[in-house]
Amino acid sequence: MNPIYRMLPILGQNLACTGAGWYRHRTRFTRFFFETLDAWERSVNGPLESLHDLQRGRLRALVARAREQVPFYRDMPAFSEADDAHEAIRETLAGISSVDKATYRDHHRDFLARDTSTARLVRANTSGTTGTALPVWLTPERIAEGYAAVWRQRRAFGAQIDDPLLTCAGQMIVPLGQRRPPFWRKNWYGRQTLFSVYHMSSAHLAAYVDEIHRTPARYVQGYPSALHLVARALLDAGRPLPAGQLCGVFTSSESLLAYQREAIEAGFGAPVHDHYAATELVVSMTACSQNRLHVDMEFCIVEVETEEETEDWVRGPLIVTGLGNDAAPLFRYRIGDVGTRAKQPCPCGRPGDSFLEIDGRIEDYVVTPDGRMVGRLDHVFKSQHDIAEAQILQETKDAIQVCVAPLASYSAASQKRLLAALRERLGDDIRIEVRLCDAIPREQNGKFRAVKSRIGKVSA
Ligand SMILES: [Zn+2]
Repeated sequence: MNPIYRMLPILGQNLACTGAGWYRHRTRFTRFFFETLDAWERSVNGPLESLHDLQRGRLRALVARAREQVPFYRDMPAFSEADDAHEAIRETLAGISSVDKATYRDHHRDFLARDTSTARLVRANTSGTTGTALPVWLTPERIAEGYAAVWRQRRAFGAQIDDPLLTCAGQMIVPLGQRRPPFWRKNWYGRQTLFSVYHMSSAHLAAYVDEIHRTPARYVQGYPSALHLVARALLDAGRPLPAGQLCGVFTSSESLLAYQREAIEAGFGAPVHDHYAATELVVSMTACSQNRLHVDMEFCIVEVETEEETEDWVRGPLIVTGLGNDAAPLFRYRIGDVGTRAKQPCPCGRPGDSFLEIDGRIEDYVVTPDGRMVGRLDHVFKSQHDIAEAQILQETKDAIQVCVAPLASYSAASQKRLLAALRERLGDDIRIEVRLCDAIPREQNGKFRAVKSRIGKVSA
């Protein structure tokens, strides 16, 4: 937190948040943004052939440019001559090796186009698999396209850019030492109330509940883990928001866990709409009314490296290609997440690739003594109604530790049920130790991780 901001009285901090909101609005909602949003709202419903044509056009231009300007891609093969757009894309990508995070980290300067001045780029950082920061360069246009995908989804569910909103994301807006409400700040320009995700103790959450009821909003946006805590507080106080007051709760930045969705929908009286993206801005998927994550095909191409397959779906690590970052293109990037792609078109009618689930980060798997990788263990907690939150830690193949933040109703029987559900998925060979705690600590960036394994397979 900026030391000057920290020293300001609350009114001053609200004014600072309002100023930042005004600046964000001005830089985010540009003419380019609105033109992109308008075009993408028309292209989203297909037909699929025109989406493939659009992808081919963008990919072809990017390949040509990368061969000419980007040192890392100097020797990349030229774009396929195949007549069919989909086939040309497939053939072109098949000729390009994938890039993992370690390679990107070691050569990141070689990914910058030579004719691009870094002065016009926005530099962001993302985390590598070893926890080291990876620098990422983004063009303003790329960022605008990312928001176009977000706003296409929000508008489809009835939220508009000028609507009032509540936010529970990672911004540090309330000094950590503050012990009394308000644990939120106001961006009056954007009609936004920003709740701190760093103050959510059970003692403080009553104040959050009051403020949510006091503040009219049309939609909510934020981290699923934080929204889940607030939703639980709304439910525990017997004061959920009336159904239909909000048009939706838009989650992003973390895996949306099954038990979190359930509580959030009940607490906020509105459906949850998830968005999957990454700091690198090379991938974007938005959930539809059927809760499938649709690839925003104007923005990216997503391949799945098949590890498991049935008649209905294919699952494996994602390999993504961003279509717009001509300043620092990334082709076939191993983003470090695993996804389950549906083989059948989505019943909602939107054409193109859709995912049943993003299963989380590759390192978020538990490895059993017999070497199985078990993902998505959060499903275990979906039916455990006596648990507020839980986290699985794994240091060695022989054992896991489950940290449980219990609700008042938690008993020996709850623990037995939990163990049975875990055994069902992990088998009898692994040691399981349950540890009760008051709250699950967040990562440095305020995010929650359901599973932290030191030995889960790391792809990069
Ligand atoms: Zn759909």
